[in-house]
Amino acid sequence: MALQDIEARIAKACEGAGRAREDVTLIAVSKVQPDARVEAVLGEGHRCFGENRVQEAQGKWPGFRERFEGVDLHLIGPLQSNKARVAMELFDAIHTVDRPKIASTIARLADELGRCPDLFIQVNTGEEAQKAGCLPSEVDGFVAECAALSLPVRGLMCIPPVDEEPSLHFALLAKMAKRNGLSGLSMGMSADFERAIALGATHIRVGSAIFGERTPG
Ligand SMILES: *Cc1c(COP(=O)(O)O)cnc(C)c1O
Repeated sequence: MALQDIEARIAKACEGAGRAREDVTLIAVSKVQPDARVEAVLGEGHRCFGENRVQEAQGKWPGFRERFEGVDLHLIGPLQSNKARVAMELFDAIHTVDRPKIASTIARLADELGRCPDLFIQVNTGEEAQKAGCLPSEVDGFVAECAALSLPVRGLMCIPPVDEEPSLHFALLAKMAKRNGLSGLSMGMSADFERAIALGATHIRVGSAIFGERTPG
C-alpha cells in the first residue's frame, strides 16, 4: 500500500540526513480525495491529515473524527478572515498565516475561544505574484508582529515555484526560520519530500503519492 511505501522512503531520508524519524510529521493531504481512500489510510492507523479548503474539511472531518480517535488536522490552504473562526475550531494547525490582518483576527478569536491551533507562517519564497505568503523581506517583521500578539507560531511554510529546484527554497526557508528562532519547517510534497527532509523539514505535506492522483471536481 502507498502509505507504507511513503513511510519507508521517509525513514530512509531521515537516516540519510542523520535525523530521527519522529522529528518529521507526515501530513497526508486528503483534499479532493474520495472518502473511501481517506478511510483506508485512517484504517491503517495514520492520523495526521491536511486539507486546503475549510469548507471541504468541515464537510468530511467531523464525521471521521467521530469514528477515529486522535485525528490531527492541518489547514494547508489559504485562510480568509470570515472562515477563521470555523478553521480555528476545526483544525489543530494552520500553515498559511501570511498577513497582519489574519494574524490579528486569529489573536482575537484565540482570546474568545480560549485556544489556538499551532501556527505556521507561509512564505512566498519564489516571490510569485499569484502565490500567497509573506515576502522573504517581510518575514522577520511579521514573526515579531505575531509574537507581539502572543500567537503560537511554530514555524515557517513554503510552496516552491513549480519550475525551480525546490532545494534552494527549502534552504532559504530553513535559514529564515533559524534566524527567527523557529523550529518548525513545513515543506516538501509528493515530488520532493526527501529533499525537504534532507534540509530540515519537520512537516511534509504529501497527497498524491499516498492517495493517488486527485480527480478534479
Ligand atoms: C495539495 C497540496 C499538497 C500535496 O501535494 P502533492 O503533490 O499531491 O503531494 C501539499 N501542500 C499544499 C499546500 C497543497 O495544496
